[in-house]
Amino acid sequence: MVVAKHRNAELIIDRSAIYKNINAEKQRLQNNAALFMVVKANGYGHGAIQVAETAVKAGADGFCVAMLDEGIELRDAGFKQPILILGISRIEDVSLIAQKNISVTVASLEWLKRANEILKNTNLLLHVHLGLDTGMGRIGFQNATELKAAIDYLKKNNNFDFEGIFTHFATADEHDKTYFDLQVSRFNDFMKVVNPRPKYVHVSNTATSLWHSQCNGNMVRYGIAGYGLNPSGGYVKPPFKLYPALSLTSEIVHCKLVSPNHSIGYGATYTTKEQQWIGTVPIGYADGITRKMQGFSLLVNGYECPIVGRVCMDQLMIKLPEEVPVGTKVTIVGKNGDKEITLQDIANYCDTIHYEVACLFTNRLKRVYIN
Ligand SMILES: *Cc1c(COP(=O)(O)O)cnc(C)c1O
Repeated sequence: MVVAKHRNAELIIDRSAIYKNINAEKQRLQNNAALFMVVKANGYGHGAIQVAETAVKAGADGFCVAMLDEGIELRDAGFKQPILILGISRIEDVSLIAQKNISVTVASLEWLKRANEILKNTNLLLHVHLGLDTGMGRIGFQNATELKAAIDYLKKNNNFDFEGIFTHFATADEHDKTYFDLQVSRFNDFMKVVNPRPKYVHVSNTATSLWHSQCNGNMVRYGIAGYGLNPSGGYVKPPFKLYPALSLTSEIVHCKLVSPNHSIGYGATYTTKEQQWIGTVPIGYADGITRKMQGFSLLVNGYECPIVGRVCMDQLMIKLPEEVPVGTKVTIVGKNGDKEITLQDIANYCDTIHYEVACLFTNRLKRVYIN
């Protein structure tokens, strides 16, 4: 997908916000714990490389990604820090992963055995983090017996470096701690068979690091709050101020006075009751403005202007309070006048979470880095 450089619609990423959000948490971490910035999915849509650069300045010690290609992107950009792939990697990529000095998550002895077939007659070293399923039900060892067998196997085969062990919490962003505590106790049971401990013991995503820091271990996987977003969506307060890094603006490319009883957009789902000023904005669902945003208000000159009719692939129409010149700024995310639209506002409207809204922005939108 090309970046639309000749259209006025841009994601503006404020690096100083990312810096503050990461640095505040790095300063707060106890016992010199490492902060690995999570930059999967193109840095939650913010741009993995640019976020990684700022993260290093702010004190990040390493990175987490979801899949190999995201790790290779960082290595190719010259990052030397540790990189952990959080998902399960393909066996056929084991040599490449080791050559790139990237760490993998392993959730079964079977995977290690198959990887060893590839590695055993080479001088490659694969850094391994063992994942533990303490209640997320996604990936990880299910019990201490399986875990012990994997650890023994790692020790016996010298193409492996047993570098880390971790789990992931399902409810760290909630007030009710019952399920969280159950996962902690399962984790502690697992850890009884881990002796000696590997270099990194980690359980914390953002929510755990912010609200259950006593569990942190010696590394955190810090994601969403680095981008200035509250993992709970606002339901639980963060211990320090978060600065949203992303804003999205476009402009009015066409403005017209429409007579009463005139329909707008595909399906003719909106019909003017009286004379109305209608503005067209050159952005649509192919940019990540989902069709569910029909009816949501964008900001123009400090006014709330609802999206009228269906969002098209590349354009959408809004109802304006008055005539405005072509080229007038339209704010989709961010401040305009004394009003502000947050990713959380869009998430609430579309019945989802801000994580998903940020990831929906496609590469056609140009990303501009400020500060
Ligand atoms: C995505 C992810 C994280 C980061 O989560 P945030 O809520 O953004 O902090 C941490 N750990 C794992 C295993 C993940 O998949």
